Amino acid sequence: MARVFNFSAGPSVLPEAVLKQAADEMMDYKGSGMSVMEMSHRSKVYDNIIKEAEQDLRDLMNIPDNYKVLFLQGGASQQFAAIPMNLMKNGVADYIITGQWAKKAYEEAQKYGKANAVASSADKTFSYIPDCSDLPISEDADYVYICHNNTIYGTTYKKLPDTKGKILVADMSSDILSQPVNVSDYGLIFFGVQKNVGPAGVVVVIIREDLIRDDVMEFTPTMLKYKTQADNDSLYNTPPCYGIYICGLVFKWVKEMGGLEAMKVHNEKKAAILYDFLDSSKMFKGTVVKEDRSLMNVPFVTGNEELDAKFVKEATAAGFVNLKGHRTVGGMRASIYNAMPIEGVEKLVQFMKDFEAANA
Ligand SMILES: *Cc1c(COP(=O)(O)O)cnc(C)c1O
Repeated sequence: MARVFNFSAGPSVLPEAVLKQAADEMMDYKGSGMSVMEMSHRSKVYDNIIKEAEQDLRDLMNIPDNYKVLFLQGGASQQFAAIPMNLMKNGVADYIITGQWAKKAYEEAQKYGKANAVASSADKTFSYIPDCSDLPISEDADYVYICHNNTIYGTTYKKLPDTKGKILVADMSSDILSQPVNVSDYGLIFFGVQKNVGPAGVVVVIIREDLIRDDVMEFTPTMLKYKTQADNDSLYNTPPCYGIYICGLVFKWVKEMGGLEAMKVHNEKKAAILYDFLDSSKMFKGTVVKEDRSLMNVPFVTGNEELDAKFVKEATAAGFVNLKGHRTVGGMRASIYNAMPIEGVEKLVQFMKDFEAANA
């Protein structure tokens, strides 16, 4: 078995212990005589799986009792529509545009109401987080929307925007469980799981109960109505059963690792190894302003496209895969999610040092 160091932005590396456990349980889940893939979502066994997954996530994030946790389908992008359909009472929402995912959410919301872009960092290829201390928040805004960690550009919020009392909605697809979160700062948090938690297809929504309403936009599909999903404990129809099971195993793994405080220490240590090298290198440079650097996604360039391509090619051959940057940024991007071991980052930095010496 040859495992590579996988720096993919998503779907991405999962903890080896989880993959091994899933393999062990593949043919016979805990004496049921069947795989989790084969069992009814209404069975007692599966009920335990989804309930435990929810409880473990609640424990990890300290989710208050007045929040519902929903395990849904359609990925993070489906929520770009579900959020305005469910939360726009006045038909108005304010969006902070810090990258492609925020922009996509903003464009989708325009189909359902008046979405305002109240701040943007598009002027400098999204390489920073705009000052959000005094935004022109709309008086009748139903919510303020952010993408908490910008997967493509490698920026993150170190301080939340002042929403002037409006509800904050956050896409945490690429940094969920990477550090502690104060859930009560938000009305709604959602994350596609394929970056830090599990297999693509599952999206988790953590929503304050008073925001779950019956009087949503009248054309809202039954499936996209949070009330439908909340009233049925995410089992209105067949949920992505196997994906949820893997998420549950990852939640247990994060608990064993010491929870979110410990994950933060682990992630800060890993990120520092890479950023410190980028700051000292004469060849490689980070593309993001220092204050707003992500712990999860680290874009960097040499400033020379041919050299970038040579680096990616040689890195791949050496077992450091998926380092090619997003097409809109170019260069390289190392995604160093929870499951990336420190060893992977240390070895990558050593490889970068050797490459720099050989190509100086
Ligand atoms: C990957 C990603 C998405 C898109 O997720 P899908 O599940 O493919 O829809 C949205 N937002 C962020 C921040 C992401 O990283």
